[in-house]
Amino acid sequence: MCTSKYKHLFFDLDRTLWDFDKNSVETLKDIFEKYNLNAGGVSFDSFIKIYNHHNHKLWDLYRQGKIEKDILSIKRFTLTINELNIGKPNIAEQISTEYIIVSPTKKVLFPNTHESLSFLSKNYKLHIITNGFNEVQYTKLENAELSQYFTEIITSEQVGKLKPNSEIFEFALQKADATPSESIMIGDDLEVDIAGADRIGMDTIFFNPEKIKFNQKVTYEIIDLIELKEIFCTNTISNPV
Ligand SMILES: [Mg+2]
Repeated sequence: MCTSKYKHLFFDLDRTLWDFDKNSVETLKDIFEKYNLNAGGVSFDSFIKIYNHHNHKLWDLYRQGKIEKDILSIKRFTLTINELNIGKPNIAEQISTEYIIVSPTKKVLFPNTHESLSFLSKNYKLHIITNGFNEVQYTKLENAELSQYFTEIITSEQVGKLKPNSEIFEFALQKADATPSESIMIGDDLEVDIAGADRIGMDTIFFNPEKIKFNQKVTYEIIDLIELKEIFCTNTISNPV
């Protein structure tokens, strides 16, 4: 039986439902092979290690508003190619375009994504709040067959603000016609998803598959999406008298 004080469940997408890291590795592997980036004896592991290093640094700058999306997309490959001395720097632009096209078509989800969402969507309104670009995030949702479960899909590009900014959460609540007290945010990032939602009075579920240690206040913690069924749909059948 599904009764709870919540009516609206807001989900993060990347690293909560859509396995960003596994999908990214699959894409980079395709690119590494297609462009013969191993020609100089560089292993895929070295390539991905250097790429991750630059990518994380550039995303930090992007979050601080210090670089543009287009620059980030290309520069992560330019820096990787230069550092490993593989190929001409001008292939970075081509690779960047390919990454952006191919990556969102990958379909690796966290275990039990479909089972949980299918079940919950019959009893609650489900929505997405994601930091990302419209085209990319919609492609992921379509390809992984996730769109069917969601009523509202809110992207940071659409709002012009990134999580954890309160404005994106407020926009999402308004769009879903929901109040904070009847809403809950489910996400993998303690600052971006959890602190952001908490600041505007929403309850939170921290998705923590890596079981990291943390001190922050969360309403619930889960390590597998299947646990959502227990949180929202308690079995209240009592023993026969
Ligand atoms: Mg996330």
